[in-house]
Amino acid sequence: MKAHEGMYIGGAWRPAVGSDIIEVVNPADEQVIGQVPAGIADDVDAAVRAARAALPAWAATPPAERAARLTALRDVLVARKDEIAETVTAELGSPLPFSQGVHVGVPILVAGSYAELAATHAFEEKVGNSVVRQEPVGVVGAITPWNYPLHQIVAKVAPALAAGCTVVLKPAEDTPLTAQLFAEAVHEAGVPAGVFNLVTGLGPVAGQALAEHEGVDLVSFTGSTAVGRKIGATAGAAIKKVALELGGKSANVILPSADLAKAVGVGVANVMSNSGQTCSAWTRMLVHREQYDEAVELAAAAAAKYGDRIGPVVNAKQRERVQGYIDKGVSEGARLVVGGTEGPGERGYFVQPTVFADVNPEMTIAQEEIFGPVLSILRYEDEDDAVRIANGTVYGLAGAVWAGDDAEAAAFALRLETGQVDINGGRFNPRAPFGGYKQSGVGRELGAHGLAEYLQTKSLQFQER
Ligand code: NAD
Repeated sequence: MKAHEGMYIGGAWRPAVGSDIIEVVNPADEQVIGQVPAGIADDVDAAVRAARAALPAWAATPPAERAARLTALRDVLVARKDEIAETVTAELGSPLPFSQGVHVGVPILVAGSYAELAATHAFEEKVGNSVVRQEPVGVVGAITPWNYPLHQIVAKVAPALAAGCTVVLKPAEDTPLTAQLFAEAVHEAGVPAGVFNLVTGLGPVAGQALAEHEGVDLVSFTGSTAVGRKIGATAGAAIKKVALELGGKSANVILPSADLAKAVGVGVANVMSNSGQTCSAWTRMLVHREQYDEAVELAAAAAAKYGDRIGPVVNAKQRERVQGYIDKGVSEGARLVVGGTEGPGERGYFVQPTVFADVNPEMTIAQEEIFGPVLSILRYEDEDDAVRIANGTVYGLAGAVWAGDDAEAAAFALRLETGQVDINGGRFNPRAPFGGYKQSGVGRELGAHGLAEYLQTKSLQFQER
């Protein structure tokens, strides 16, 4: 795999200040496929300076021109989609068709949506004797995870650029090659030097230096709740804006009137896709007690069919973590129906698709985010019980409701403490706001709500005539 030895700062690839490196490993065969520099505070400082220097001109660039750069960026992503998909597969391990369709397909849609929003958004409005302007927040420090490597980057950088902000990105250490390809795409799209900058490196070193840097006006972070809490505290102490997209433990509630086979089938597919490494995955399936046994049978059959079709998890540590949760499920008394801790082969960080039945809402596997291909099936007595169980975690990122008709499912969905709910299998919408209630985060990404995160308002009052 192609890898740059430097950092993309001020419109060029520059040597890193230190000599440490990060080895990139293919999780499917455990082979090293490349290496990138591990940035330190000095690299971050250079990148923030470049972003600050570029800010006044980019903020003053007419929105139509910013839109044109984003359209060009979208077009480069389209032109280089095969190369990007192969890179995501090599460093994340997801099967190539999934990389093509989702890992590259979704960011192309998101980049396109922000090209359109930049061109059409009303950055100024009249309110009585005032003109209210929406201005860019400033320099954005973006810190992203590995689970959807390109999407997480585009969901921050595209709205930031549309708003007129400049950006320093610190991507996840497991997937830096996709981030380097993105930097190449930004360059090819003709985005002015310094508007976008990339520093690869470790979270507690480069990530922390970026979150703490006084030249950063907004920290936009996606990742674990544990790190998010730390970043929120740092930003709070500095009175700095912060956006946090964190973990989830979402519920898939199947009401008695639903098409059970369909709801279970889609539910299992949702958890197994990307090897369970999706923050919004519906990892708790809630089924009425009278349909419970049938649902467990259906889920077991559906999960068993995934067998060798899912990719590995991202690294050895993640596999250990997932296996630890599977052991915990067994030791706390849940019934293992399919899967388990044994990996299917000698090489690669694979975990079998796993389904637990007889899971109580208090069990660890029903409360904590596992981030692997593990589904827990819970039993409820009536609708109030289902609401109580669905809302009974610290998280509130996503969810699903299935019923005989959309109105019944939507009425139930209104009772859920969560940022988004799919009604009877409604599709992911890249223009609808995405983000969490409770400890799943602060702020929203995607669409107009995502753009608003990167804007601040200024009111000009005029004398009334
Ligand atoms: P993580 O929190 O360990 O890392 C995320 C990013 O933060 C990485 O770039 C990492 O290098 C950086 N980081 C780590 N420590 C840091 C520190 N002290 N200061 C600054 N930056 C630091 O998470 P992960 O393991 O990469 O990703 C998995 C987690 O992300 C899961 O909990 C998942 O739910 C969550 N996630 C949430 C969303 C969402 O939109 N809500 C999306 C994807 C992933």
